[in-house]
Amino acid sequence: MKLIRCGNPGEEKPGIQLEDGSRVQIPSEFGDYDERFFAGDALERLKVWVEAGAADAPRFGPDERLGPPSCRPSKIICVGLNYSDHAEESGMKAPSEPVLFFKSTSAYHGPNDGLVIPAGSEKTDWEVELAVVIGKRAKRVSEASALEHVAGYVLHNDYSERAWQLEREGQWVKGKSADTFAPCGPWIATRHEIEDPHALRLWLTVNGEQKQDGNTANFIFNVPQVVSYISQFMSLCPGDIISTGTPAGVGFGFKPPQYLKPGDVVELGIDGLGTQRQVAVAEE
Ligand code: ZN
Repeated sequence: MKLIRCGNPGEEKPGIQLEDGSRVQIPSEFGDYDERFFAGDALERLKVWVEAGAADAPRFGPDERLGPPSCRPSKIICVGLNYSDHAEESGMKAPSEPVLFFKSTSAYHGPNDGLVIPAGSEKTDWEVELAVVIGKRAKRVSEASALEHVAGYVLHNDYSERAWQLEREGQWVKGKSADTFAPCGPWIATRHEIEDPHALRLWLTVNGEQKQDGNTANFIFNVPQVVSYISQFMSLCPGDIISTGTPAGVGFGFKPPQYLKPGDVVELGIDGLGTQRQVAVAEE
């Protein structure tokens, strides 16, 4: 299933994108796609509902805005340097265990809502990523059972202000957390929709020019390893998002580096997870 949320910001309603591309609302008894939804058996019940007759459900208009495909999660955890070609372009060694950092959940944003380049930023950069949405709560889970705690997968652009991330003191979180820096969607594909999360092409263009073109086959740490690893240090709650890192081709890897400016159009996609499009504007 493809979980979507449609409507104006703050008023989104949960729905499903059907195989034929039409978008239907789900009955209110399911609630919204929040921590409680992912914790329980709602996904299984929703699947039964879809198979029984979602085709008759009320539809969203074709032009209705797609919001972020779940409610704001309790955590957005990112894995850094998880592709060897990106570690190399960053001038950093491939890590011996996953590099983790947080991204503010207030950066969570719809897939086509646009990028606001924060005031004072000169080095806003892109990162196409496969993100994992947690289902059942995960605390010290093994790699063998890790996927049972995954509800699904979503496309994420891990926008990054490189000066704030790398040239200031302290942690990367400062360069990762501005409003609009975590567009997700268009949909969350439930786990069984994606046959193999380690064989997905992911790409990104700026103004139509190819910048990133990678494949999740090149992960240093794969999805079960990452989920198991993070769960050794903290509980992963239903709905939490883990972003698994970006392949080569980010702006600061170019010589000279390339950064986004107002008017730039960023488009990205992953096999099975749809595409996003953001137009960059300056913060007012
Ligand atoms: Zn990233």
